[in-house]
Amino acid sequence: MSTAAEVDAATRAARRSLDAWSATPIKERVQVFYRYKSLLERHIDELSALITRENGKIDSEARAEILKAAELTEFACSLPQIASGEVLEVSKGVECRIERHPVGVVAGITPFNFPSMVPHWSIPNAIALGNCFILKPSELVPLSAGRIAELLREAGLPEGVFQVVHGGKEVVEAICDHPDIAAVSFVGSTKTAKVVYRRATSNLKRCLALGGAKNHLIVMPDADPEMASSNIVASMTGCAGQRCMAASVMVAVSKSDHVIERMITAASRMRPGVDIGPVISAEAKARISRYIDEAEAAGAKVLVDGRNVVVPGRERGYYIGPTIIDHVRPDMKIAQEEVFGPVLAIVRAPDLDKAMEIENASPYGNAASVYTESGAVARHVMEKASAGMVGVNVGVPVPREPFSFGGWNESRFGVGDITGRGSIEFWTQSKKITTKWNRSAGTNWMS
Ligand code: NAD
Repeated sequence: MSTAAEVDAATRAARRSLDAWSATPIKERVQVFYRYKSLLERHIDELSALITRENGKIDSEARAEILKAAELTEFACSLPQIASGEVLEVSKGVECRIERHPVGVVAGITPFNFPSMVPHWSIPNAIALGNCFILKPSELVPLSAGRIAELLREAGLPEGVFQVVHGGKEVVEAICDHPDIAAVSFVGSTKTAKVVYRRATSNLKRCLALGGAKNHLIVMPDADPEMASSNIVASMTGCAGQRCMAASVMVAVSKSDHVIERMITAASRMRPGVDIGPVISAEAKARISRYIDEAEAAGAKVLVDGRNVVVPGRERGYYIGPTIIDHVRPDMKIAQEEVFGPVLAIVRAPDLDKAMEIENASPYGNAASVYTESGAVARHVMEKASAGMVGVNVGVPVPREPFSFGGWNESRFGVGDITGRGSIEFWTQSKKITTKWNRSAGTNWMS
């Protein structure tokens, strides 16, 4: 665990490196990331093993994180092409131009569920755009951050441009309070996102804080049953349900039992310890089990029960198997709160209007999806969903680069998105310059 004094030391080191790094042309800065991307690819075995060790996710999920980190890095390599500024002759002989300048020393605070991918949402873009970056990973997954630092150095990033501080609340507060840190990106639970957003902005920093989620997947009676059932089970169980884009509530419109039957079969087939990893901690396992117990006690029906699973040889592991709970009412806790485990609550709705009403009532707004073969229904959900990312026949509607990632409502505080084109605005400040070198242009009101 680092201390507030170490945050200060890291900030001072970053400031010493800032002038030279921000003055390096962007086309040179991104050369580091071309090399870094190939290092990620070359070291994928080792890097994914590290994620499995610290987080517990299965090998294929850990590998997907590294491939996504490489894709995020690839996007940063394209920044010279898309963050090139603008210039226009606005009146005879007078030009306006917009230049993008870095914000300065910036920080990223990240959650436990993606030890590599989520830090890469911010690191390559912020640094390629000329900032010096301090990463504070989750104290539950401290390993990947150190390797990221080593590989960035190996790729040629100058000292002080990227640093890691470890720790929890005390270090986060030191980041939010430090006068020389200009911007903070945060990803984690809504409760912490609110605390960090308030504290950082009250210290006059820019802040983008992504929070938790409760994603609704609406299944219409005409949905392709094979696709819907396999996608929904994959969405709710991937990373043991510890994804902010995971299916959490399925809103089954009218007759959807044939889809639910297939989901039961697919979920029951999954082998804990092989197809689905453990959750992060004993507390998380207890919390998730409590949600299931309470839903059952409130009258919901557990169709597939992941409580009490035991993985031979790993009896003390924090495993929870896929859990599907039917006949959940929208007013139950399990329908409203983020469970963050491989648990799907099925809420029945008589029609699409009622389904949208249920989706719209959630205070969160990360993702929403619809399974249907009807273009008109799909279009309606695209328009009416109260979520920043919407899927049609897609269970995990994460936009891929260059499209930006970001939710609505209590899933995101601040303006703009954290990745893709949307992040350029956050990691830079624009300078508007007006010039006149043509004396013969004469005089006008702006002379
Ligand atoms: P968390 O809020 O507990 O922790 C996130 C970060 O904040 C960590 O670095 C942690 O050390 C720090 N932190 C924790 N408590 C703090 C406090 N009181 N004051 C200051 N800092 C504090 O989140 P988590 O459990 O690590 O991650 C899971 C959560 O993250 C879920 O809610 C999930 O939905 C969310 N998440 C959201 C997105 C998104 O894109 N919206 C992506 C990934 C994860």
